Amino acid sequence: MLQRVAVIGAGAAGLCAARHILSRQNTFRAPVVYELSGQVGGTWCYEEHTNAPVHSSMYRDLRTNLPKELMMFPDFPFEADLSSFLPHEDIQRYLQKYCHNYDIQPHVRFNTAVESVKPVVKETRTTWEVTSSSQSGCRETETFDSVFVCSGHYSDPYIPDIPGMEHFKGKVLHSHSYRFAEPYAGQSVVVLGAKASGLDISIELAKVGAKVTLSHGGVPLSFPLRDGISQSSSVAAVQPDGAIRFQDGSVCDADVFIFCTGYRFSFGFLDGPSLGLAIDSHMVSPLWKYLLPPAFPSLVFISVCKMILPFPVYHCQVQFALSVLEGSVPLPSQSQMESEVLTEQQDKLARGIEHRHLLIIQKEQFEYCRALAGLAGFKPLTPASQSLYQEVWRQRNILPKTIAKSTTS
Ligand code: FAD
Repeated sequence: MLQRVAVIGAGAAGLCAARHILSRQNTFRAPVVYELSGQVGGTWCYEEHTNAPVHSSMYRDLRTNLPKELMMFPDFPFEADLSSFLPHEDIQRYLQKYCHNYDIQPHVRFNTAVESVKPVVKETRTTWEVTSSSQSGCRETETFDSVFVCSGHYSDPYIPDIPGMEHFKGKVLHSHSYRFAEPYAGQSVVVLGAKASGLDISIELAKVGAKVTLSHGGVPLSFPLRDGISQSSSVAAVQPDGAIRFQDGSVCDADVFIFCTGYRFSFGFLDGPSLGLAIDSHMVSPLWKYLLPPAFPSLVFISVCKMILPFPVYHCQVQFALSVLEGSVPLPSQSQMESEVLTEQQDKLARGIEHRHLLIIQKEQFEYCRALAGLAGFKPLTPASQSLYQEVWRQRNILPKTIAKSTTS
C-alpha cells in the first residue's frame, strides 16, 4: 500500500520534501502540504507590516549571503542571467518556479495551520494524527504514515534576559521586526549580536546616518567597519537612568535597542517529551542524523541543523529520509540511534562546543551530506560547491560590506 505523508510548511524545506515525495510514486501517495499562509516561499515572502504576527523575518533590502550557485537546489539552477548575490524577491520567485516546475501547488493546503501532530501506536506500527484548521474555520484530523516537519526556525525571536531592561526608555525591537533603516536615521542605536543579521542591519543603519554601537560577546571583529559603527562588548544591564551598560563598564544613551540575538525552536504542534524529544530555544534532541527522533523515526525534521547551505542540505536530508521510509536505508535500533547521537554530542562538548551550538554543522556539512548520499545512493554535493563555500566564507571575513550576512540570526 502506498504511504501517506504530511508535510508541514511550504517554504524551501517543505517544497523540497513535496518534490521528492512526488517523484517516488511507487512508494508514496501525493503528499498533503499544510501551509499557514497563502503563498509558498516561507522566509522569502517579505511582509512589510509588523503589527500582527508574521512568519518571515525578511527585511526590505536583504540580499543573499550565498551566491546563487550555493543557494540553489542542486537539481534546479537559478536563471543564468541573474547576478550571484540576489535580492530576496528573486529567491521567492525561484521557489515559486520550483513549485510550478514540479507541480507541487495542487498538493498545498494554503491558509491552513497544523495545530497538533500525535503518534498513534498500534502493536509495532505508528501512524500520525495531524489536526489542522483552515482560515475558514474548518478543523480536521487526518491520518498519515509519516510527517515531515518543515515549519522553519527563524520566526520566534530569542531575546536574552537583560537585567534592568524595564528601565530602557527608547524603542526596543528584535531583528524579526526590522524592515528598513530610514526610521532610525540620525538615531543612536545599540545592536546586540554581530552575526548574520546584526552585522548586516548595522551596516544598513550606518548608511542612513544612524550612530550604531554593535555590541557582542565574541572577539572584536578584525575587518574595518563602516563609518558610524563602533564595536563594544556585550550588554551587561540597563541602568536605572535608562543608559545601556556594557560588560567593559562603558555606557551608552541609546534611542533604539535592536536584538539580533537569533531565534528559538518552537514546534507548538508537537509534544516533545511524549516523542522522547527535549526541545528548548536552541536544541532539539535526540535526532538521528539531525533528522529523526529515534523513538519515532517516521517523524522527519528537515532543517534543524544550523549554519548550513540550506537548500542543498534540505535536498540531501529529504532524499535520505525518504529512503529510510521506503526501507532502502535500514534503520539501526532505537538504542543504537540514541547512542550514536549521544556519542556525537559528547564528542562536540569535549571539544569545547557549547550545548546551545550542538546543531551547528557548518564545518562538517559537506561530510554529513556525503554520508547521507552514500547511505541512500544519491548524487553527493560537488567538491566545487565545497570550495566555493570556503571561498565565500574567506571573503566574508575580509569584505563584510559586500557579503556581511549569514543564515543564523
Ligand atoms: P521557512 O522558510 O521558514 O518556511 C516554513 C513554512 O512553514 C512557512 O511558509 C510557514 O508559514 C509554514 N508553517 C510554519 N508553521 C506552520 C504550521 N503550524 N502549519 C502550517 N504551516 C506552517 N538562507 C540562505 O540560503 N541564504 C541567505 O542569504 C539567507 N538569508 C536569510 C536571512 C534571514 C533574515 C533569515 C531569517 C533567513 C535567511 N536564510 C538564508 C535562511 C532561510 O531561512 C532558509 O534559506 C530557508 O528559506 C528556510 O526554509 P524552511 O522551509 O526551513 O523554513
